Amino acid sequence: MKILVINAGSSSLKYQLIDMDGEIMLAKGNCERIGIDGKFTHKTKGGYSSTVDVEMPDHTAAFEQVKHALTEGEGKVIDDLSEVAAIGHRIVQGGSKYDHSVLVTEEVIQDIADYASLAPLHNAAHVQGIRAAIAAFGGQVPQVVVFDTAFHQTMPPKAYMFGIPYQYYEKYRVRRYGFHGTSHRYVSARCFELLGRPGGVGTKVITCHLGNGSSLAALSDGKVIDTTMGLTPLDGFIMGTRSGAVDPSAVLFLMEKENLTPEQMNDILNKKSGILGISGVSSDDRDLERARNEGNLRAQLAWEMRTYQIVKYVGSFISALGGVDAIVFTAGIGENQPLVRSEVLKSLGYRGVKLDEEKNKVKGREMEITTMDSTVRAFVIPTNEEVVIARDTKYIVDQL
Ligand code: ADP
Repeated sequence: MKILVINAGSSSLKYQLIDMDGEIMLAKGNCERIGIDGKFTHKTKGGYSSTVDVEMPDHTAAFEQVKHALTEGEGKVIDDLSEVAAIGHRIVQGGSKYDHSVLVTEEVIQDIADYASLAPLHNAAHVQGIRAAIAAFGGQVPQVVVFDTAFHQTMPPKAYMFGIPYQYYEKYRVRRYGFHGTSHRYVSARCFELLGRPGGVGTKVITCHLGNGSSLAALSDGKVIDTTMGLTPLDGFIMGTRSGAVDPSAVLFLMEKENLTPEQMNDILNKKSGILGISGVSSDDRDLERARNEGNLRAQLAWEMRTYQIVKYVGSFISALGGVDAIVFTAGIGENQPLVRSEVLKSLGYRGVKLDEEKNKVKGREMEITTMDSTVRAFVIPTNEEVVIARDTKYIVDQL
């Protein structure tokens, strides 16, 4: 069975075609700058790679490019579109209603649209992506949605409620949802295998997804009990361009002083803050490291803030869990930045965590990075959100 995995953003559409027989990625790519000038990238398992400038006025036009690339020319990986058995969509916000993946129906599309107020940057684009996929592949190809929030739905109210009047939870469902759920789910499941505890029963694990957007999750018995992101993916610790947690009154203070609208403030907190905002250099970790090595003090400060904030969350999650058996690092920074891992783990030296410096040099590969006598085990586990989406899609389609 071949499954097309889609991650639709407002001006982009990432795709991956996966052969579930062996979970092999056949092709992947990205339609960027949809509705602007358009750039289309297509890569195949066989090593073909192309990038072309091509106008894509909307997501439906983007799907036409994807269909063409998959079935024709040098980058062709299937003979006919009918080989695509199902489509799986990544959806950022599934609210409290969706604690697992579901088949797309009109009601589901409507719910995703309704949750757009909780994820304005994402959910509206996901609806566009689903509608365009239906237009491109026809209504008979089953489509499944996989929510970033679903895996965190096991959190207890004491972890997901905010200390504001209860009426706002009742009225608007304002609460912590958590994000990167598919990634936390994938790497935690792999960690449980490595610990020899499938399902995670009897284990306490902290998963650290460190990318442009970053979050931690605390898992007890295989279930999330807390996570750093909140109502939106802005909460938690400092990220590429996002602030992470700040005193809410600092936000109100700035809005008043600078005469900012909610939209402008949102833009500052989501796109101009974080590592970029502090360093003034870049949101990208590689640029940050370079600047820091060249003696840039604000880059150094941004670096130190990130480590310090991650360390604080890890410590609080260890307390919330009542201990920890394993810590997992994943995503762009977690998989490729030994120094961040080493700084975080060294802060746990007082608990008997012992880093294996040699193994911690690993980049982009699975590795246990603590020594045999370490009290807590730590792993680098490359994430694969697309495979989770494809697996869920297959599981649901197999039951039809
Ligand atoms: P996103 O949240 O956009 O999916 P990623 O998980 O790809 O982000 O992470 C992006 C971050 O990871 C960037 O800050 C980038 O610098 C860093 N990163 C990615 N690959 C590497 C690498 N090979 N070496 C060092 N840092 C990397």
